[in-house]
Order: sequence, then structure tokens, then C-alpha cells
Amino acid sequence: MGPRRRPLCDVVIRSIFPPHKVGRVEAAMVAKHCYFFGNGNADGDGSMRDLLGGKGAGLAEMTRAGLPVPPGFTLTTRTCLAFFDADSACPTDVDAQMCEHLAKLEQLRGRSLGDLDKPLLLSVRSGAAVSMPGMMDTVLNLGLNDKTVLALVRSTSNAWYAWDCYRRFIQMFGNVVLGMPIRRFEERIAEIKHVRGITRDTDMTTKDLQKLVGDYKQLVQTHTGQAFPQDALKQLRMARDAVYRSWFNREAIEYRRLEGIAGDLGTAVTVQAMVFGNLGWKSGSGVGFTRDPSTGEKILYGEYLLNAQGEDVVAGLRTPKPLADLVTDMPAVHTQLADIAQRLEGHYRDAQDFEFTIEQSTLYMLQTRKAKRTGKAAIRIAMDMRREGLVDDREAVTMVEPRHVEQVMHKIFVPGQARNVIARGLPASPGAAAGAVCFTSENAVALAEHGPVILVRVETSPEDIAGMAAAQGILTSRGGMTSHAAVVARQMGTCCVAGCSDIEVDEHVGVLMAAGRAYTSGDWLSLDGSSGEVITGRLDLSDPDVSDPEFIAFMDLADSFRKLGVRTNADQPEDVRKAREFGAEGIGLCRTEHMFFDAERLPIVQSMIMSGDADIRRTCLDELLPHQRHDFAEIFEAMDGLPCTIRLLDPPLHEFLPRSIDLTREINALERGLRRTGPIAEMIRLLEDDEVEQSRVVRANETAKELLEARTELLARSESLQEMNPMLGHRGCRLGISFPEITQMQARAILEAACDVVEKGIDVRPEIMIPLVGSAGELAHQRAIVEETAAKVFAEKGRRVEFLIGTMIELPRACLTADKIAEHADFFSFGTNDLTQTTFGFSRDDSGPFVRIYKEQGLMEHDPFASIDIDGVGALVRLAVRKGRGRKERLKVGICGEHGGDPTSVGFFADSGLDYVSCSPYRVPVARLAAAQHALAQLADAG
Ligand code: ADP
Ligand code: MG
Ligand code: MG
Repeated sequence: MGPRRRPLCDVVIRSIFPPHKVGRVEAAMVAKHCYFFGNGNADGDGSMRDLLGGKGAGLAEMTRAGLPVPPGFTLTTRTCLAFFDADSACPTDVDAQMCEHLAKLEQLRGRSLGDLDKPLLLSVRSGAAVSMPGMMDTVLNLGLNDKTVLALVRSTSNAWYAWDCYRRFIQMFGNVVLGMPIRRFEERIAEIKHVRGITRDTDMTTKDLQKLVGDYKQLVQTHTGQAFPQDALKQLRMARDAVYRSWFNREAIEYRRLEGIAGDLGTAVTVQAMVFGNLGWKSGSGVGFTRDPSTGEKILYGEYLLNAQGEDVVAGLRTPKPLADLVTDMPAVHTQLADIAQRLEGHYRDAQDFEFTIEQSTLYMLQTRKAKRTGKAAIRIAMDMRREGLVDDREAVTMVEPRHVEQVMHKIFVPGQARNVIARGLPASPGAAAGAVCFTSENAVALAEHGPVILVRVETSPEDIAGMAAAQGILTSRGGMTSHAAVVARQMGTCCVAGCSDIEVDEHVGVLMAAGRAYTSGDWLSLDGSSGEVITGRLDLSDPDVSDPEFIAFMDLADSFRKLGVRTNADQPEDVRKAREFGAEGIGLCRTEHMFFDAERLPIVQSMIMSGDADIRRTCLDELLPHQRHDFAEIFEAMDGLPCTIRLLDPPLHEFLPRSIDLTREINALERGLRRTGPIAEMIRLLEDDEVEQSRVVRANETAKELLEARTELLARSESLQEMNPMLGHRGCRLGISFPEITQMQARAILEAACDVVEKGIDVRPEIMIPLVGSAGELAHQRAIVEETAAKVFAEKGRRVEFLIGTMIELPRACLTADKIAEHADFFSFGTNDLTQTTFGFSRDDSGPFVRIYKEQGLMEHDPFASIDIDGVGALVRLAVRKGRGRKERLKVGICGEHGGDPTSVGFFADSGLDYVSCSPYRVPVARLAAAQHALAQLADAG
């Protein structure tokens, strides 16, 4: 029973707090703020992560399991939120409850806080529900002051240790609670070491430490204008509040942003009796893993330092020893630790990491949590634990996160390297890359001969394909998660950071500005496409291994639970083959425009666009036909027996013409050359005797004139095709409606290829997809053309091939009228990139910067181009499925937007009754796992 609230209290609360916070404050006022653990018993347990934080819940659980844990109590995250609501003041009854629990702790330890005979020392530790390693603060050795330090000397007869604790305490308290830069303290240590000519902290004498404490206290006095607080209870209250506030540490906020952790969870605070790793050379402190976190191998893995407190291991002041050395240093402790590791795994049924301290040969456990691990390790651990009988098939599949699979598919940085991050952009395509920067596609191709390159552009366009293919990584300063760079990079499996507004790029000069430094062609950068980090210099990479039998076995296991189909978006035979290897069950989107960009074909495409005459256009298209037919035949062969959805031409025509700016530049150059006609004429006269040379100059001049004419014409046409809003302009089925001959040619190429391949005894299942349909009429129009062409082709070839005609659903109007559209469609495929763009009215190429602001302001939880907006775009998807299937029960429905490879979105699509998702080849295994895990979650819900 909590204390009863008095009406007066009620009045006070309501007068102090705004109405929306009253509820939370009231709840906190009657709540249990503290959860005790110690001596084999605990108020809380491992399931209470939300309330006690991961650390508090883990300590309670370990205590209950009988592991050696120093006793203490945890103040809840709920108390933390009430503290924030009250502008950094604890609810009134917190102090009372805290003192009650402190008394219990004192009794258990036989020591008291601030006692002049047997002082109790405490650690005050942060710990949120979601692990945020090292992002928040902790204070150790609390309870020391000028008097208790002497008591400690007396009671342990170890003066060195007592003064070491005191100097550590002032240092941590000064930094965490009083906000003093840690550097200030470190400088003092460095000074002493320098004067004394020693390198290790442990080489300082008791005298040195006493002097250090004096210096530190002086620093505090200067910095805060007050003496270092001597009252132990006051120290505790101040530390508790500071640890609560560390929820808002800059690095904690940044970490939450990157990891997508909500900002309003708050942290718990654990107050725990200290155990001492700095009590001599039979004491120490360390961290461990029950299995190797980078390979997954089942060995006790970790590091420790003798005569040290916990923070020393991570601080890097001394080089820690590998845990294997503990076998010789303290064999009994090593055996005990190995035994505990085994018990932890048995208990949590997962690989765990843990922190421990050894006080005079006695082992204490200070923390445990699910071990972070690489993708490779995750898969090995799941498969090993399944073999060991620790987990069953379902658990093994659930243990591996989609991002682990993503990691396995790509290069990653060798773990443990320091990262000097100079900018952050969107994590547009996963993987890691290091290379020399270059600023043009041509340069990338040329430089790539000599080593890895990073292509840096403001944005990319289809003309940059060659450079993108040659590059190990792509970095753009503009564009969003579905910008050209992002989509193409994902398709290629190339690492990409897009929309990085922290950098400034001048492609013409060839310079990138980041963090106040200029990078020019040839300078080295490293990119992390999974986090969006841009890192200066060269980090080491490790190669992916997709043919690892363990990986393949794991994916097969996942597939045994999966219900949703997984296809791929690919248009190059090589990509198609790769995707099949990765487990794609068909092509969900074959874009045909890339086939138009081929260097050999582009001039034909351009003459087609340049001509105002349908007959000439048809001639050009006739020339393209064999090329397209060849491409399709190759893809059909690679996909033998699997369905292939081929989308007819989608982008606006001007994308196939050179950019106006480039044309203008070329025209200017030509004109400058020709303006030299005067001197050239003079030159021709001078060359009178050399007829050969004379005619060469004349010819060159004439060629330039012709070129100028052609370029000027191209510019005029290009400008006449320019649109204010190309994304909402003359594209998609609108092209096929104004130029039916394009649809005819493409349908013919597809079906002729199909007939030819069937001839070879290969099973072909073409699905012709009409893009950007907004009304039933448009689809009916295009369908008629395709059917008419099919009839002709089949008559000519003397054989029929089964095929489907369907449409891409990527406009809100298409969703709203999906029943009518379904009448003319054999299948729907949601183009969620455009559907998101048109539903939000956000340009997918320009939304990066403001979506970032929206996310920072909490107006948006995630980028809707990366993960489907369930409430809006998702509602349209569900509506279209319902309407479409209402009209045509067996309508096949899939999705081919970038969301097809996003784990959260995959779950949503499965729930919405889709038959398959389609994504770029390298995301296929991720989608397979996400779909399997979704099916398992539903099984769990049902059972
Ligand atoms: P973080 O979340 O940054 O890991 P912790 O609260 O785990 O912070 O504290 C950091 C280190 O401080 C621990 O790894 C441990 O070595 C040391 N530490 C914390 N509490 C105690 C304690 N009660 N006794 C001894 N050392 C402690
Ligand atoms: Mg810790
Ligand atoms: Mg589209």
C-alpha cells in the first residue's frame, strides 16, 4: 500500500503541473519507487526491463538465480519520468523510500553511508530499458569524504586503495554531477605521472593519490565556487538526479536517434554496494561474453585488468588482458566465471555479455545483457544453440535480427577500429566501403583501375551508372532514401550514404567540404551505409561470405516458417542470377529504362525522342527491338520457371537526353572554337603550300559547325521536353498512351523473347506491368495494345505463351478506384515509392532535409520512404487490396517499392494479405527472414 494522498497534496499538484502531466505525477506519487535486490532475493525480476531498466532487471534476475551480486536497489524509470515532468525534482516520497531501502542495504552489509567507523560505499548507475552502452553516466565510490576516507584506510589497512577510491570518486562526481570536463582531472594525473616519470596509474604512490585528491578538491572549488560536498546522503541525492539527467546526454540523444529508440522512456537508477577491484593484485575488473561476439565461436571471451575498477577496462589507460590469461592469474575464479557463463546462457537461452569485479579473489557479477554481435556471429550462435538443444527451431529463427542478415550480405568494417566521423547522412544502402574520393563518373571508372573509390556527387542520375558500378561506395549530399543513388546502390549491393547535408560538394571544382576540411580527388574516406556515417581516412574491411553453409542452412530454416513470397527487383541478367542465389522466387520488378541507357542504344533512343514523326519513331523502335528482346530472353532463361514482372517504360523522355547544362557548356565551347574563324582563315592562307594540312583545318572547322547545329537542335528539344514537375509529368502509362508504338515495341520484345525461350524448352512466365495508372481507362487502353500485339506475335511464331497483364498501383486515385482497375488487371503491384511520394506530396528526391527536421522535432517517427507509413500509405494499400480482391477474388497482389526489403514494412504487407514482396537482390535474404519472423509472431499470437 502506498501512502494515502491528502486532498491538499492534490491541490498542490494541480496548481504546479500542467493538466497533461498531472496524471503521471500522481501515479508516481503513490508508486513504489525502489526495488531491492540482495542475498538471493529481489523485488523485481528479469521481465521488468521497462520499469527497472535492463541493468536493474538483470541484477534482480541474477540475484534470484543465486549468482554473486552485490546488493542494492533500483529506482524506476517511472520515477525518472516524474522527475523530468517536475523539472528535475524528485516526487516528495522518493527520498523517504530511498532511505528505507538504504537502511536495509546498510544492515545487510554491516556498514553505513557516511559512517566514521565502517563507511558504506555505493555505485549509482544508469540503465534504460533498451541497452545504450556507455551513453549515460555512472558514479562509483560514493560516500567518501575527508573523514570516511580515513575510516576506510583504518578498516582495510590499505591506504593506497582508499585514496585511489577517493580520487576516482571526486573525478566521476565532478564530471557527472558537477559537469566539469573530465580532461581537467586527467591533466592532473598526467602531470603527476610526468613529474614522477611513471606511466601506469597503479604506479602512483599513496602520497601521489593524496596530492591528487587535494588538487581535485581545489579544481572543484574553482569550477563550482563551492567545496566538494562532504555530506554522503547529499552526495547520493545529487548523483541520483544527475544520472537521471544523463538521459539527455548529447551522445545518448544521438544514439537514440540512430537506433530509433524513443526519447521518452527515461532511465532507471541503480544504487548498489561497491565491491573493489582495486584492492591489490588479487583483485580486478573485466567484461566478458559467453561466446565470441565477432565469430560466434563458443569460447569464454573478454578482457580484464588486475588492481583496477571497471571504467579502467574501457578507458584504455592500461591494456587489458584476454580472459584466457585468468586461467593462470586466478584459476579458481576463471573456472567459476566459465561456470557462471554457462548458467547465464542456460537461463537466458541466448549469448550474454557480462561485467564482473574480483575483490580479493572473490567474484562478483555486476551486469548482464544480451550480447551484441556481428551478423556472422548471430547466425552461428543461433545454429549452435539449436544443435546444443538450448533453443528450438522457432527460437533460432527469431534470435537473428534482419540487420544481422543484412550485415552478412555486405562488407563490414573490421570491429574495434576508431571512427573519426565527419558527417552523417541517410543510411541508404548497407555495407561499408573505404576508398579514394572522386567527383565524376568518368573519374571513378578511371581511378577504380588503381584501387577502391568512393563516388561523391550532389545527386546521381542515370548517366552516372558506370561510375556507380565502378565505385565501392557512393556519397551524395542531396536526395532521400528512394533517390536515384539510393535505389541503384541497393540494387547493385553497393554501400551508399545519401542526402548527407553535413557536407558540401562542388563536382566541377572537385571538392568536398566536411567538418571544416576540404577533400579533393584521391583523398580517402570510409562510408558506413548501415548507419549513414562518413568517416575520414581508411578503415579496414572484411568481406561478406554468402556461400557460408551455416548461413544457407539458417535461411532454409527460416524459409520453413515463411508464408509470404519474396521476389527481386532486377533488370540485369547478372543481378537476376545473383538474386536467385539469394533465394528470390521471381522478379517483382524489371525496369526497362535501364535497357534504354546502354551506350550503344542511347543514340537510337535519342533520335526516337527527337523525331516529331510517328513513322521515324517506329523505325527507331524497330532498331531497339532486337536489343530488348535479347535482354528479356536472357532474363527469362535465368529465371527459368519463375514469374517475371516487366514494367513498360516509365520515366519522362527528357531523362534520356543530355542535361541542358551540359549541352549549353558544349555549345559554348564549340562556339568559342568557331569564333576563331578569323585567325583560322589567316592560318589557312599561311598554310598555302601545305595542302594536306590546309584541308584538315577546313574539315575540322566544318565538323564543328555541324556538331554545333546538332547540339543546338538537341538543346531545343531537350528544353521543350523539360517539365516543371517531371515526377507528375509526362511519364508512366501516359507515355504509352501518347506514343502507343513504344508499348507495341516493348510488348513485342517481351513476347517474342518468351516464345523463343519456350522453344528452348524453358518455362517462361511473363507478367507485363503498366506503370502509373490512375484510372481504369488508362489500363484498358494499354491492355488492348498489349493484347493486340500478343495476338500478332503468337500468330507469327505459331505458338502461344501464357502471360499476365497487370498494373503498378502507385497513385492514390488508383487505390481509391482499385475495384474498377481490377477489372482490367490480372495482378496489382504496389509501387510504394511513388505511392508514398504522391500520398504525402513529398518529393522523394527533395524530402531528405525536411524529413530529418520532422524526425528531430518528433513530427515523424521514421522516414516514410524507408519504412512504410502504415496509417496513411498503408491504409491506401489495404483499401486497394480489399477493393481489388472484392472485384477479382484471385487477383495476385505484390509490392515492388523499396519497402519490400524493410523488415517492419514486410510484416505490414504480410498482414495486408499480399502474396509477395519484391526488393533489390541484396535485400532478398533480409525480406525472407523478416517474413519468416512475422509468420512466427503470428503463430505465437494464435497459440
Ligand atoms: P555502463 O552502463 O556505462 O556500463 P555501469 O553502471 O555498468 O555503466 O558501470 C560501469 C562500471 O563501473 C561497471 O562495469 C563496473 O565495473 C563498475 N561498477 C558499477 N557498479 C559497481 C559496483 N557496485 N562495484 C564495483 N564496480 C562497479
Ligand atoms: Mg556496464
Ligand atoms: Mg513509380
